[in-house]
Amino acid sequence: EGLPVERKISSKAFVNIMYGCNNFCTYCIVPYTRGRERSRTPEAILHEVTTLVGQGVKEVILLGQNVNSYGKTLEEPMDFPDLLKQVSDIPGLKRIRFMTSHPKDLSEKLLEVMASRENICKYLHLPVQCGSDRLLKNMNRHYTKEQYIKIIEQARALMPEISISTDLIVGFPGETEEDNAETMDLIRRVEYDSAFTFMYSRRTGTPAAEYEEQVPEDVKNRRFKEVLGVLNPIAIRKNKSVNGQTFEVLVESYSKTNGNMLSGRSQYNHVINFEGDESLLGKIVKVKITDPRNFSLNAEIIEILE
Ligand code: SF4
Repeated sequence: EGLPVERKISSKAFVNIMYGCNNFCTYCIVPYTRGRERSRTPEAILHEVTTLVGQGVKEVILLGQNVNSYGKTLEEPMDFPDLLKQVSDIPGLKRIRFMTSHPKDLSEKLLEVMASRENICKYLHLPVQCGSDRLLKNMNRHYTKEQYIKIIEQARALMPEISISTDLIVGFPGETEEDNAETMDLIRRVEYDSAFTFMYSRRTGTPAAEYEEQVPEDVKNRRFKEVLGVLNPIAIRKNKSVNGQTFEVLVESYSKTNGNMLSGRSQYNHVINFEGDESLLGKIVKVKITDPRNFSLNAEIIEILE
């Protein structure tokens, strides 16, 4: 607690709300390397965020391996939705994001808090890992494909415009063609806005590394391409569908691909690039999408908001 933190982007800051993890997903080394779950007190978190806002921070990203189990280890237990409400009440804080959510601990209360607060971004990163119930069990994830889809339906019922991303593992030990087909079916049903897809790789010291039915590399490669073949057209279609719409963007930096353009994110996590000068860095601007690309959006500034 209390160690000074060096921050690169002065308008946006990452704030740890907890450390470690108790979940022991069978492919993951984190619980062994970072230890058991410990939550910071709400007082420490609120103090840090309030101080950051006083220093000009407009957006905070609350971080934990499993934010939905926040507070269970505190002397006076509290849950993540209540923490989120208190952070959301901090005067001057324009945007809040959080990651990572574990589906098994995500409550309807969290979705209701997200829906009811303007400064909580309507963006949910909800790692699913795969769509096969059999593999989800072997991964020790504690939810089924249908339970996961139900959470997405609840989120969209409360926030129709919400943007949803995920993490996927292709080629987990024992994965069959049917399992991969379940994953692709899940992707089609959820229609993710974006996804981080990984080919399974062994982590020494984890249970899955010892599983006998490791999937051969060439099979993993093929299935990985098949999964991207389902994911990408959906993500591209969704990205292109916002042409002509307006978004508020927190200007973060110059664009990675074009040094003459500024870049930032909408509350839905779209990456948006537009022309502008250095004086706009750290400001919130309103932009209109003029040229949607596959995985980013080009826009023009309409208004400088704050
Ligand atoms: Fe914990 Fe996430 Fe690793 Fe699972 S994948 S053990 S939830 S850090």
